[in-house]
Amino acid sequence: MFKSYTFTAPVAGKNILILGAVHGNETAGTIAQENIIRQIQSETIRLKSGSVTFIPIVNQAAFQQDKRFIDINLNRVIQFHLHPNNNEEKIANALLPFIDKCDILLDLHSTHCPDDVAFAFIDYPTPNNLELLSLAPVKTALAGWPQIYANQPDITNFCTEEYAYQNKKTAITVECGYHKSNDSIHVATQTILNVLSYYGVIYKAIPEQHNPRVIRLMSYITKTKEGSLSRMYQHLDKITLGEVIATYTDGKQISAPFDGYIIMPNPHAEIDSEWFYFGQDTTE
Ligand SMILES: [Zn+2]
Repeated sequence: MFKSYTFTAPVAGKNILILGAVHGNETAGTIAQENIIRQIQSETIRLKSGSVTFIPIVNQAAFQQDKRFIDINLNRVIQFHLHPNNNEEKIANALLPFIDKCDILLDLHSTHCPDDVAFAFIDYPTPNNLELLSLAPVKTALAGWPQIYANQPDITNFCTEEYAYQNKKTAITVECGYHKSNDSIHVATQTILNVLSYYGVIYKAIPEQHNPRVIRLMSYITKTKEGSLSRMYQHLDKITLGEVIATYTDGKQISAPFDGYIIMPNPHAEIDSEWFYFGQDTTE
């Protein structure tokens, strides 16, 4: 299954759970955790209160093949499976007790374009989750993911944040940047150290807090037939009401429904999969 590392301080406090490679090819969080584990083991970093559990490689089999997943997307099936019948459902069952035991969950991911900048998902912008978000060195967080899929019973969306939220845990997901960049390892490292120091788990100066803008996902477009984007949109590019974002080969156009942002455009989207999302800045 996966290997976990728990370090417990002599004094009670917050229990932090840190995950890496929930998607097997997203290794920034893995490398960052392995470095920090070594520093705790060598007592370069010392524990003050509570505990921290690291699972640097949640999806071992996918990690070994440098793949996102083996059978199904693990971050859609984080729930108890009575009869787990694939790699990811078995991992989900093994992971739940760790989330049950923690107070705060930090799930570290990365993204597939070399130009990608770090951002976070805050599926539920509760005060606790916003406090946790302020420790991630990112400029943008995305809210509203559960709501845009809520009316689609055929789509299961049980991600780590969802399970954490249902069980009254504090949780965010940080997309640290491009999978294979050093910057993404740096973002992962900084986020972990900020979280551990802020919640008093390690001896380290309290970090500077950030105030990322929160963009709410409003809707998404599924690519239903052949077509292309109007230009090479980047994630979080500004869009204006009426702007033609994409055109199908039969001439049908998709326009921006408001002034806002295009989120996670995928020029290589397959038919019947998500093409891009529309978002609005809730703080503007
Ligand atoms: Zn991921």
